[in-house]
Amino acid sequence: MPTQRPGPVNRDPVFHREVGRDYPVVDRAEGAYVYDSRGRRYLDAAGGIFVVNIGHGVREVVDAMAAQAGRAAFAHTTVFTSEAELGFAQKLVDLAPSGFTKAWICTSGSAANETALKLAREYQLIKGHPERTKIIARWNSYHGSSLGALSMTGQPRRREPYLPYLQDFPHIEPPYCYRCPFDLTYPGCGLACARALEAAIEEAGPDTVAAFIAEPISGGPLGTIVPPKEYFPIIREICDRHGILMIVDEVITGVGRIGHNFGIDHWGTVPDIITAAKGIGGGYVPVGAMLVHERVYAAFEDAGRSFRHGETFTGHPVICAAGAAVLDYVRDHGLIARSAAMGRVLGSLLQRLHDIPIVGDIRGEGLLWGIELVRDKAARAPFPRERAVAEKVAKVAFETGLLVIAGTGCADGVRGDTISLSPPLTLSEAQAGELVDALETALRTVSVVEMAVARA
Ligand code: PLP
Repeated sequence: MPTQRPGPVNRDPVFHREVGRDYPVVDRAEGAYVYDSRGRRYLDAAGGIFVVNIGHGVREVVDAMAAQAGRAAFAHTTVFTSEAELGFAQKLVDLAPSGFTKAWICTSGSAANETALKLAREYQLIKGHPERTKIIARWNSYHGSSLGALSMTGQPRRREPYLPYLQDFPHIEPPYCYRCPFDLTYPGCGLACARALEAAIEEAGPDTVAAFIAEPISGGPLGTIVPPKEYFPIIREICDRHGILMIVDEVITGVGRIGHNFGIDHWGTVPDIITAAKGIGGGYVPVGAMLVHERVYAAFEDAGRSFRHGETFTGHPVICAAGAAVLDYVRDHGLIARSAAMGRVLGSLLQRLHDIPIVGDIRGEGLLWGIELVRDKAARAPFPRERAVAEKVAKVAFETGLLVIAGTGCADGVRGDTISLSPPLTLSEAQAGELVDALETALRTVSVVEMAVARA
């Protein structure tokens, strides 16, 4: 007799992400659509979770992976490199801003950020600054689940259980104009959010800071906040003045997601290190990459010093073959320009959602869009967390055959609901229309109930 337990129960052998929940089983996926084992079809406006940049089921990528697996699935990078690794690295640095010459290939966004964090430390050691150990990051950012990446991550709810394990890195406020943390309005604000980096450096002790890390456009809980055009140039100037490396986390924005090769191109700023992951593998393989500017790499060569880091699957040939095929597909189908063009189409279709009572803000760039949900538009008041409004919208959308990303905590780390959209860059106009129709239905359905509860 199974023992009776008080909590919700799931009998699958998988340790699922949420206890007691039954998960639908994915059967197959093609283009912009995913099908479950009951035969139901979903338009993948989430792109999995900011991942499926070239669409599902692209034969060229599958063939490239099979060919590499058949030829040499594995050779350890302490001994060998591979044509696949050389090719993928070259394609990545060719897409990066001028001056980027090296790519380190790993297996996730967390691993890419962990690698960048350690590289920043090694760089500062080489430069004779052993006391530069801190990485400044931003509140409500997400940089990954491993402990270094989580130390940089600024989401209180994700950090809270693990605080005893984390590095005490400083965090500054994000460039969140809809809810300006400084109660200012752009452009009169003078970019207080960017200048806050200077104050954080002073407070931490300028000689103790190794690097600053930021997402060009925040995904996760903040729901696609696009910093003003002056933001990253100011950050660059402050980093330079203090000898601090500028790391941009492009796990969501690279490659092509916002209509540029890398997101930082939107600001015309050249960082020192770029991390990427999700979209560069398109979901075909678990992948991450750290791209390094020549001026940083040169410090290692000049000192004759190697980077003391690496994992078993660093530079894995099949991952690299898949990544190279994904980047070829992006190039051959003009998907970066398409992301910019279809982003304008999707952005203008989304505008009609403004008249839904719970829609507070709609923001985005390229094919990365976010919708912030509020209880009171004028006051920009968030819903209480217990109402789980973002999750409800995602659930209703799912039931009507649309996948979206629910985010929480944008307003104060706990309250604040967002819906993010990150469809394949292959999205057609008809699919953009289908997406917005289904999303409108979900938002209106939840709006009726939640506004009635809010008024009661
Ligand atoms: N950085 C950003 C901006 C992300 O959105 C994510 C994942 O959502 C990560 C890093 C971590 O990537 P991964 O989940 O592949 O470890």
